[in-house]
Parts: sequence; structure tokens; C-alpha cells
Amino acid sequence: MFDLLLTGGTVVNHWGSVRADVGVLGGKIAAVAAPGALTTDAAVVTDATGMYVLPGGVDAHVHFDLSLTDAMSAQSSARGSRAAAFGGTTTFLDFSLQHDDESLIGSIEDKLAALKTQAPVVDYGLHAMVTGDVPFAVMDEVADAISGGVSSIKMFTTFSGASASGDLFSDDGRIWGVMQSAARHGGIVMVHCEDDCLIRYHVQRLYAQGEQNGRNIHRARPEIVEEAAIRRMILLSERSGSPLYVVHVSSELGIAAIADARARHAPVFGEVLHNYLVFTSEDYAREDGTLYHNYPPLKKPADQAALWRSLRDGSLDTVASDDFTIPRAAKLSGQVVDNVPGGHNGIETRLNVLFSEGVCEGKLSLERFVELASAAPARLFGIYPRKGAVTVGSDADLIVFDPAAEWIVSLDQLHSDCDYSIWEGRTLHGRVRSTYLRGRPLILDSKWVGDGVTGEFVPAGHPSSSDSSNWR
Ligand SMILES: [Zn+2]
Repeated sequence: MFDLLLTGGTVVNHWGSVRADVGVLGGKIAAVAAPGALTTDAAVVTDATGMYVLPGGVDAHVHFDLSLTDAMSAQSSARGSRAAAFGGTTTFLDFSLQHDDESLIGSIEDKLAALKTQAPVVDYGLHAMVTGDVPFAVMDEVADAISGGVSSIKMFTTFSGASASGDLFSDDGRIWGVMQSAARHGGIVMVHCEDDCLIRYHVQRLYAQGEQNGRNIHRARPEIVEEAAIRRMILLSERSGSPLYVVHVSSELGIAAIADARARHAPVFGEVLHNYLVFTSEDYAREDGTLYHNYPPLKKPADQAALWRSLRDGSLDTVASDDFTIPRAAKLSGQVVDNVPGGHNGIETRLNVLFSEGVCEGKLSLERFVELASAAPARLFGIYPRKGAVTVGSDADLIVFDPAAEWIVSLDQLHSDCDYSIWEGRTLHGRVRSTYLRGRPLILDSKWVGDGVTGEFVPAGHPSSSDSSNWR
């Protein structure tokens, strides 16, 4: 007797695709078997013929309920998680925020309490943002954070002083100290890699030339800005023994830096945002061009082509949204290169854009799509195979995805707390039809049915990688 039986679909995991029925019991996947092989004694039997049955998406980079500046004030997890469910993401990884001499554990407890109050409708894990002049006491707290299920620490090599994203910068010494703690206790350090000194130089040059208009934001943070920081962080990572996850890699030079480290079998990983896969710095020239912006800025078409190549060949690892949803007016409030707000309203579109632009355009296999959107982030952040796979024993986070669907994105069909979308008007192939969280339906036939379902905190174990040779 199953609680739920999905019949006749094609189950897609990162290791392969197969026609199979999926039985769910007690919130877990209890059976995956040849069509017709399982008992049909189930409380609910749903025909998934012609559909893909995918593991729920894992979005490794999301900011909810976070205020960095007046403009940068993110949507709540209640709204954002609903959008996630419609888009096929059943686990998001949000961030706690620690600054200067605040307690790391205190910041994690505060964030978890806030998430619990907001009752997001999908499951969630947590990274810890550690910012500013991190004291030794906070470096010592990293051990407790990791044993408490927060095994990834995020730091910034940019955003100092009154920047467009507030004051998040830590110098290399602080990052070195945190990496040493992470290495000792089995964590992973995530870094926003853009060199602050090089940014200051480019910003001042643009002002000197009278070209400080916000739509020149890509010229304030060109490729060398990213490459310099990535290569430095790789050095600290390799010398400290801490794995490194480079968030939102945007340039071909950044990819090459990571590829060099990987060639030495260093545990260095890279993330791509789905807006980088569709938009380029040429889009800044549009009217309201800064709507398309987030940090690091969009790069050239050649960089975009390199991002696709790296996702296909495995030199980059995950696709995330960096969802930081703010209203259109806030997004357009910055007029000059040093105050353009970042942030992307993307949690709902991530999976579908990756399928449509990747799989349907022949740039990614179906299995690689699932790996990038679900399995790889789950592994790297220590929640695999509970999340990220359709296999016996995993949480029954299941997406019924219609590969034959075609739709045009419009704001009234999206569910974030937002008054614009950079994806508006875009034709997407494929569509999420149903979303299940631990066996309970949130979305059925593209309609919300999830009242009463509440997401849970998923504690992270130690990070792991598909390729064991990446670990020392
Ligand atoms: Zn972010």
C-alpha cells in the first residue's frame, strides 16, 4: 500500500532515464520499478504517461527576507517558496547574515527562527554569510555551525562601505581564517569573487571619463575583476585545505581559473546563474537595462558561450538563481555604476529556463540538466541523497514535468512578490505540471493545492562531489 503511485512516467536522474512507476510511502520514495510492476494498492494513483518525473529542484543560492540597503530588501520566504514550488524547486538554500563581532551561531538561530515563522512551503537549508572584520571567536564558532547542519560559509571580496549591496566585504586575512576553520571541521567556503580594489579603479576611471551611468556597470566590473579574485581565493583554498564554491561565475576567464584548479584535483566548484545563460552585457543598452543586472555583472556573448560549454563538460557544477527579489522601482533606483542594485527574481524560472534553453536547444542532456538543477547542489551542500534523486529512501520531492508544453512567461502567471520579470514575454518549452514535497502535493495540474503543507529545515552533512578525485 502506497500513499501515492505515479505511473507511466520517465524517471530522470543524473545517472540515467527510465520508464518507471514511483511508489511513495511516509513521505519517502518506497519503490521505483518497471511500469506495471508495483501494486496499484495506493491511496492516490496518478498517471504520468508522457511526463518526466524529476527530483525536486535544489536552488543553492537564494536570499529571502533580507534587507541590505533601502533598495535591497528581499521578498519573504513565504512568497518566494510558493514561487519555487510552481517552478519545480522543492528545496532552497538561504543565508544567515553575521557582521563584524556578532555571533555566528546567534545569526544562524535568528535566521532559522525567522524562516520557521514565515512557514515556507518547500524545504530549506542554510548557508552562513560571514561578513566584515570577522573576529577569531566567529572563526571558532564555525565548528558548531557545521555540526549543527550549516556546513557552508559564504564570504565576499567586494561590497565595502556604503556599496550597492551594503557592507559585506572581508579582507583576505579574514577569509583565510574562516577557510582554516572550515577545512578543519569539514565545511565548504563560498565566495563572491570580485576584487574590490580593481572595482574601485574602474569606477573612478568611468567617473573621470563622465561615463558613470549605471548602464555601464559591466565596465566597472570587467572580467579581470572576477578572475583576480577567483585566482586568489583558489590559492587560499588550496593552501588552507578548504573546499571552495565560487558563487555566480560569469566570465570565461573565471571559468579558466577554476578549470586550472580542477586540473590539479583541487576541490573547487563553480555556480552559474540562469540569467547569465540568456542575457549578456549587451542587454544593459536596453531601456531599463539595469533591470537585467545582478552582481557580478552580465558579460559578453563569448562568456555566455563559455558558461554553456562549462556546464556541459562539467567544469562548472550548478545552476542557481541568486533570487533577491525587489520591486522594479527599487531595481531602477541606482543611476550610477557604484549604486546599481543587484538581485534577480528568478527562483520560479530557473528550472524551466535551464530545460528550455539547455535541453531543448541541444546544449545539455536531460540527465545533466537534472544534475545541475538538483543533484549537484544537493551533493555539494550535504543534503544528498535525501534530496536530489528519485531513488528508494530519498524524500519524495517529485516534479511531474511536461516536456511537450510551450508557454509564454507573463507576470500574472508568476508567483513571486514582484511587479516585473526579466523573463516576461519569453517562450519556454516544457512546464512543471505537479510538485510534491515529501509526497504531499503542492501543485497539481499547474494549480496550487498545498494549503497546510510546511517546509522543514534540512540540516547539511559534509559536502561531497560526484568526482571523488576532486577531494584530497
Ligand atoms: Zn547572492
